[in-house]
Amino acid sequence: MINRRIVLASRPEGEPEAANFRLETEETLPLGEGQVLLKTLYLSIDPYMRGRMSDAPSYAPPVGIGQVMVGSTICEVLESRTPGIEPGDTVSAFTGWQEYAVVSGRGLRKLKPEAGPLSHHLGVLGMPGLTAYAGLLNIGAPKPGETVVVSSAAGAVGSVVGQIAKISKCRVVGIAGGPAKCAWVTEELGFDACVDHRSATLKDDLKAACPGGIDVYFENVGGKVLEAVLPLLNDFARMPVCGIVSQYNQSELPAGPDRTSVLMRAVLTRRLRLQGFIVTDFVSQLPDFLRDVSGWLSEGLIRYKEDIVDGLERAPEALMSVLSGRNFGKMLVRF
Ligand code: NDP
Repeated sequence: MINRRIVLASRPEGEPEAANFRLETEETLPLGEGQVLLKTLYLSIDPYMRGRMSDAPSYAPPVGIGQVMVGSTICEVLESRTPGIEPGDTVSAFTGWQEYAVVSGRGLRKLKPEAGPLSHHLGVLGMPGLTAYAGLLNIGAPKPGETVVVSSAAGAVGSVVGQIAKISKCRVVGIAGGPAKCAWVTEELGFDACVDHRSATLKDDLKAACPGGIDVYFENVGGKVLEAVLPLLNDFARMPVCGIVSQYNQSELPAGPDRTSVLMRAVLTRRLRLQGFIVTDFVSQLPDFLRDVSGWLSEGLIRYKEDIVDGLERAPEALMSVLSGRNFGKMLVRF
């Protein structure tokens, strides 16, 4: 079997570009005992991939130069030497940016195709959905009547956060890039308001949308969006720190003045609770998450949008889209 794969050719300075990636072909290895041969159907494109392209210290090791870019996938089993996994099964895997992979069959999750679109297992019913569910409910701990603000509100994580906050009977305000995304967030997802972070009046717009201040801020973006949120946080507000996507392409500290003291003064005087988290901290909640979110999806309480491009060679462009806000919905590559 000839496998096509995309490897990391060089580490980006700032925004990734096409030259940081290289398309290669190779023959797949013969199957060993306990292994399976997988054919990729969908690849998830996520902001964390920018972090893996860098060798700066982080919570996960970097992709090495010449190694296949990492990523979650939905795959069809072509051959199996693992008991319990049969050719024709569909599984959730972590095989990265390639068309075929020979991997251990242990730890692969079998999916039921009749349980809904397979691609949902990379989004609303997968890692981004669990991130939204666990981060909001455990750290944000929203109470009925509170105001919840979420940034990157039209994205894979943010759209689910806001809808779960609505189910929790909160007032929900999104922050997104551009009028089309803001309109979708209010009209389709039912958020109470959405403000455009590209607008010159972001601070005033957010203040007007949150007349009672903010009790929970689900942080996906950082930078000037956080600066607009900070003055509006109420005493004892909670902030699940999920991501800071506006900073991922930065290769040096932003120009001064140093804002740390402003942040720390707010944390102290308003007794704010900030907690960073990585979705893997909450894997034990996977069964509860799947039960609740599948139920909300089938009841129509959660709506979900995907942005799908076709073909392995479009994966670099898809990652650049996510890092610049050109995606609209959960970014996926279909093979
Ligand atoms: P999204 O689908 O939300 O796509 C990323 C979005 O980020 C873009 O569409 C864009 O939305 C926004 N964005 C990009 N650059 C900027 C910028 N400079 N300023 C403001 N917004 C920007 O991706 P995900 O839902 O997959 O991820 C959302 C966040 O969650 C990311 O920070 C990610 O790293 C984090 N995350 C964290 C996890 C964890 O375990 N802690 C797990 C999964 C995700 P717009 O057009 O609205 O600006």
